[in-house]
Amino acid sequence: MDLSKVLQSGMRGVFYGRHSTHKQTMETQRRSAYELAEKYECTIVNEILDEGVSSRKKDRKGYKQLIADAYSEKFDFVIIYSHSRIARIPEEHEMIRLIMHQLNIPIIESETENLYDYGDTIYRAIKDGVAKYELDKIRFNTRGAMQTLVKNGLWTGGKAPFGYRYTLKERGDNGKFEIEEIEMELVKKVFELYKNNHGFSFIAKHMPVNSHRGKEWNKDRVKNIITNPFYAGYIAIRRKHEKKHNSLRDRNEWVMEKSSLIPPVLSIEEWEYCWDLYMTKMKRKISPKHFKTSFLLTSLLKCEDCNGSLVGKDQRTKSNQGKVYGKKVYICKACNFKLNAEEAHETAIKIFKTYQGVDTEQLIEGIQGKVENEIKIIEGNIEDLEVVWNAEKRKLQNCDLEIEKAFKESETNETRIKIFLITKEKLLNQIHQIEAVIEEKKSKIKFLEEVQKNQILIEGQLKNFYLNSFTQQDLRVLFLYLFEKITVNNQGALKCKLRFNLEGDR
Ligand SMILES: [Zn+2]
Repeated sequence: MDLSKVLQSGMRGVFYGRHSTHKQTMETQRRSAYELAEKYECTIVNEILDEGVSSRKKDRKGYKQLIADAYSEKFDFVIIYSHSRIARIPEEHEMIRLIMHQLNIPIIESETENLYDYGDTIYRAIKDGVAKYELDKIRFNTRGAMQTLVKNGLWTGGKAPFGYRYTLKERGDNGKFEIEEIEMELVKKVFELYKNNHGFSFIAKHMPVNSHRGKEWNKDRVKNIITNPFYAGYIAIRRKHEKKHNSLRDRNEWVMEKSSLIPPVLSIEEWEYCWDLYMTKMKRKISPKHFKTSFLLTSLLKCEDCNGSLVGKDQRTKSNQGKVYGKKVYICKACNFKLNAEEAHETAIKIFKTYQGVDTEQLIEGIQGKVENEIKIIEGNIEDLEVVWNAEKRKLQNCDLEIEKAFKESETNETRIKIFLITKEKLLNQIHQIEAVIEEKKSKIKFLEEVQKNQILIEGQLKNFYLNSFTQQDLRVLFLYLFEKITVNNQGALKCKLRFNLEGDR
């Protein structure tokens, strides 16, 4: 390998070697190192040597000195004879490489004239581990700092969020948040509109002119309200990216703490409900038109014959005289079966009205029962995943044993060790993935328990249920909430399948 990009004339190197029981071997190592340094017009300014036999000992003086000298910039590169000589314990290998890499100090192997690089997968695994450790530390620290802040009743977040003012009665007093009534009315309106499935821009357009502390509303200002758990009485830090404009970090990076200093205006469950709406929209599971389409049955209609989905299509055309031809239809994507949309809507509404006879209690029970079933299914999934997790954990333990054994062998087989290390990394990845999925499922359960099963929120969803006349959008929201699917046979007859099991179900 051409090292001229790494080694430039005049650079200072340190030779790190391990004493071998054979004096001659040591000489070979040293000569090889000096020759290479000379080839690139570099000088070796120091030699750090460790006892070869005791390399397994934790307190190897040379190894520690090497790292200490690196930090005090006593050399520009490290030269070793062969990486098998630098350390016998994989963690040491990686630690040296990691530290030198971070300090920008190349390690050169004189035997092969190669860079002893960090390309190995195991290196990356450890680096990720270190990064994660750092992150956890930050998290831990901020959590601690915040608890102190909250305990001391102090607010360091700058201006209070829209709807609140922060007041200190006197110097040294623990301040508190008070509701700014006029602003808070607007906040409530924002949440109300959002729960009714309106988007940020729509909401911004429907707020009074210049009512955001004298400024115009925009979608960012609406987003700031919807995505801030402050309104449910929680302080959240590390919520936003400092550098990206109004962009939020992953929820698992936030530190959220309930604060007795904030009078909440909605329950945390309600806020979680809005957050879930936001996430769903973000992931584009719901298109902006999902609730707004004039085709009431979009994404619900299925063809009984071929099981295809029907999509709405406006086939109306206007003649020059203004006369309208054609109609709005649903067409089966698979078999082209056509259904008159206006007629289908009328039928669906008629069927819907028959459900209005069911009383609220029964309806809510049905809905909660459905949620409970969903929870049971997810709990089953988690159990299955835990079985897999256990199996992978056992494999990992075996792998660790093998690695340990391989290192204890008198003739160290590097290939063997490497294979085990790679296997170990794969297993760890696998295990972490399973853990992440389990975590996700658990929070899904939490969401179902606290939000979807929540009686008050269900009543909110159903608040239009018993009305006599509906706006198109209200009806659409109710339909999506109540119906799992609506099938149509080749005669055009509709059959509605409810998402919930109601007694007297038809
Ligand atoms: Zn069909």
